[in-house]
Amino acid sequence: MALSGLQIQKLLPKTNCKECGSSTCMAFAMKLAAKKASLSECPYASEEAKQVLGAASEPPVKGVKIGREQVSTLGEETVFYRHEKTFVNQTVIAVNLYDDADAEIIGTIKNYTLERVGEILTIGAIAVTQRSDSDSFAAFAKKVYDATGLPLILRAADDDSAEKAAKAVAGSCSVIAGVTMANADRMREIAQEQGHVLAVTAEDIDGVFALTSKLKQDGFNELIIEFKTHSLLEAYETNSVARKAALKGGVKAMGYPSISFIDTGNDLDDFALAITEITKFGGITVLPSFDPAQLSTLMTLRQNIYTDPQKPIQVEPKLYAIGEPDRTSPIFVTTNFSLTYFLVSGEIENSGISAWLVIPECEGMSVLTAWAAGKFSGSHIAKFIKEIDLESNVDTREIVIPGYVAQISGELEESLPGFKVLVGPGEASDLESYIKSVLVK
Ligand code: SF4
Repeated sequence: MALSGLQIQKLLPKTNCKECGSSTCMAFAMKLAAKKASLSECPYASEEAKQVLGAASEPPVKGVKIGREQVSTLGEETVFYRHEKTFVNQTVIAVNLYDDADAEIIGTIKNYTLERVGEILTIGAIAVTQRSDSDSFAAFAKKVYDATGLPLILRAADDDSAEKAAKAVAGSCSVIAGVTMANADRMREIAQEQGHVLAVTAEDIDGVFALTSKLKQDGFNELIIEFKTHSLLEAYETNSVARKAALKGGVKAMGYPSISFIDTGNDLDDFALAITEITKFGGITVLPSFDPAQLSTLMTLRQNIYTDPQKPIQVEPKLYAIGEPDRTSPIFVTTNFSLTYFLVSGEIENSGISAWLVIPECEGMSVLTAWAAGKFSGSHIAKFIKEIDLESNVDTREIVIPGYVAQISGELEESLPGFKVLVGPGEASDLESYIKSVLVK
């Protein structure tokens, strides 16, 4: 839990020597409390202060890394609601594979990508579930790891099989699932020896509490929690209670990322549960099988949840070539908000023409927001166009602005002598028909 300035001051030497750059120890303590300074700036900090402040500055939800070749970090969260600050590490979306699955599906999972607003989204892990004997299970796990390099989630039917598979993919920093109080000691030894993470489970939160506490006390802290829930409501409640206990109550035993295995037997219920997990703090969400429709929807949802609300996703302000434009190609302008850029550039591409797209600096705001904030005025756009020296590179003297800011056309024409401003459609989806009816003659 975060310490107050007064609590921190009690841990400092209180000599007011000023070597940290603050006039008093109290002033330095206030900076530490506000996370605007580091304890290392005080050369006289005691070991006790380092220990206490070190523990206090750890995120309430522990960071756990999985994977060796393709690493994902889980946890490290500090807030309950995204708008309080931001969520840090997004839910890893994994897909379940039974160990008797066709080899072909392994490559399909590995090669699956979804490009959205400039980001390439991929599957982050593969759960390998045992249905065969232990040797076949271990061999299949190795085959999947060798082919994909993705961290695995090993779901063995018994402890011997878990050990064989863990050895087969030693050092891959995969997850050994299904760790209970009954096999915790053996699984801990295996995880330590083979370099893996443990996913612990129990019938209820109290059982999970006892298990994470025990393993931490035994010196193993690379843990993920699997809650056993029996309904959507229960999953929502349990995830919320556990996260609140870690964040607000400082309950370290609940301060681990979670994993959930989605498999209700009903597609719609699976979907609802996966959505709940992604929106309610899921660390890893394992889908029952490879389904591109489900994946693309869930990855889009995840991208929206885990985008930092304080940092709009934006593209670099510059002149973009869409297709293979020449000196006489049409010129469009819009803002540098990623979603706007990709929608507009995509619609221009769809129309089959090549064009220039001017993207001035608008701090990642959408068209109307940027205009209201004075970042997308006629003079602002004209200044940018002069900076990139558009006139020397392109002979076209017509520029298409978004329909929602038709009111800037006069100012833009005045600020850009020689250019004619055309007012395009308000919605990017109408660009294709606008291009075909107005620009392509
Ligand atoms: Fe106090 Fe340490 Fe700063 Fe000196 S360097 S004023 S002892 S906090």
